[in-house]
Amino acid sequence: MKLSVIGCGPAGLFAAISAAKTAPELNVCILERESQPLRWMNDARNPPALTRSDDSPDAFAAACPHGADFMHGAVQALPPSILRESLGEMGVRTRVGENGAVLPAEGLDAQRISATLLDYAKRLGIEVVTGCTVAEMNRGTDCFRIWPKSGPSLDSDFVILATGGRAGHSGWNLARSFGHEPSAWVPSPVLLQSKDARARVSSPIPVDGATARIPELSAEAGGGVCLLPNGIGGAAILELAARYSHELAARQYRMTLEVNWVAGHTRGQPTKLLRQIQQSHARKTVMEDAVLDLPRKLWEKLVESMKLPAQSRWSALDAAQLQALAGQLVSSRFKIDGRAMNKAEWVASGGVPLVELDPVSLQSLRQKGLFMAGEMLDIDAIAGGWNMHIAWTTGWIAGSAVAAEYGRM
Ligand SMILES: Cc1cc2nc3c(=O)[nH]c(=O)nc-3n(C[C@H](O)[C@H](O)[C@H](O)COP(=O)(O)OP(=O)(O)OC[C@H]3O[C@@H](n4cnc5c(N)ncnc54)[C@H](O)[C@@H]3O)c2cc1C
Repeated sequence: MKLSVIGCGPAGLFAAISAAKTAPELNVCILERESQPLRWMNDARNPPALTRSDDSPDAFAAACPHGADFMHGAVQALPPSILRESLGEMGVRTRVGENGAVLPAEGLDAQRISATLLDYAKRLGIEVVTGCTVAEMNRGTDCFRIWPKSGPSLDSDFVILATGGRAGHSGWNLARSFGHEPSAWVPSPVLLQSKDARARVSSPIPVDGATARIPELSAEAGGGVCLLPNGIGGAAILELAARYSHELAARQYRMTLEVNWVAGHTRGQPTKLLRQIQQSHARKTVMEDAVLDLPRKLWEKLVESMKLPAQSRWSALDAAQLQALAGQLVSSRFKIDGRAMNKAEWVASGGVPLVELDPVSLQSLRQKGLFMAGEMLDIDAIAGGWNMHIAWTTGWIAGSAVAAEYGRM
């Protein structure tokens, strides 16, 4: 009997591996459109966050704007610590990064990771067919028939769709041909754009402790804000963008963004501090020294935006100007008028609704023998390793379920 997994991302790979490990007699193959699977990981500047260091289902669910209840249970089927162990057994060593994300061990580049995982799959007898785009699929009387874009059709007893959430959504169309109705694909912008002069920078200005707020959504996130030449980014923006992707898209990414550059300080505290600085630095110009450990470039931008006369000295500021400067520190307001057109969005929501699948096996409720996993499902999380864990886990669940089904035949 044969299982065909369509898509060789983390979900497809783990689906195939779990099926082949549990049912070694099952003939498992992966059909992958690209010539080099897992290629997106190969960005040396951004090592992939493979999973999380924390096994808590509550913490995991809290990171998922969509599919939280499902992931609360699913993460117990393959907790991050077990995944790390499994990756280690396959030859992928990991380490824990600063924010709890699990990263590849030092010196292990993404290209090696994909090669190692593919080698492991092949040693289990899994056939990986690259350069094979599945264009169509239907169910005959006793098996699925799969048509690649070119070449002969092939038959399969089970199919796992793991085509991810982007790239033309060809996998979603395959799901549609069995009556599934994927919800709209909504990307989480990595960067928000503003024409505000304070946001116009020629090199990045990261502020690690900063928090960001979208007042009209009563939404707030911490973790840092970074002014970049092509938009406002940073962990806080990524989180807001992932949690409120639909709301932001509905507003066409037009909103007010409020940044507290000195998180932990309320408005009163900087005012008091600025008064003290005024007394001790009376003869210095306001521009001269940044306050509260702010990057100097940011301080200059904030002061410039106050339109004080050039070379204003601290002693020349009146109470209202001090108050306004404190306001800049704790709630700089930016008019956002779009999202940066990044080629690859890291997180996107939308996909096949979970109600259309059996929650234990991820088998389609529309077509027996058809399973789904990964980003093609309507589950997503904020950036930082949760999304890949969703892919590994749902792949693992679908692959194990196929093996169990095969065992019952
Ligand atoms: C630049 C970037 C960086 C990211 N970094 C991180 C990170 O560090 N940590 C994290 O948790 N998440 C990260 N993500 C998100 C993460 O990549 C996804 O959550 C994850 O890859 C989803 O896995 P998947 O297997 O479901 O889909 P994918 O990884 O998208 O794999 C799907 C595969 O299916 C193939 N395919 C599609 N259609 C067909 C077809 N018709 N026939 C045959 N093959 C097909 C595709 O070529 C692809 O290889 C990142 C995303 C991007 C874009």
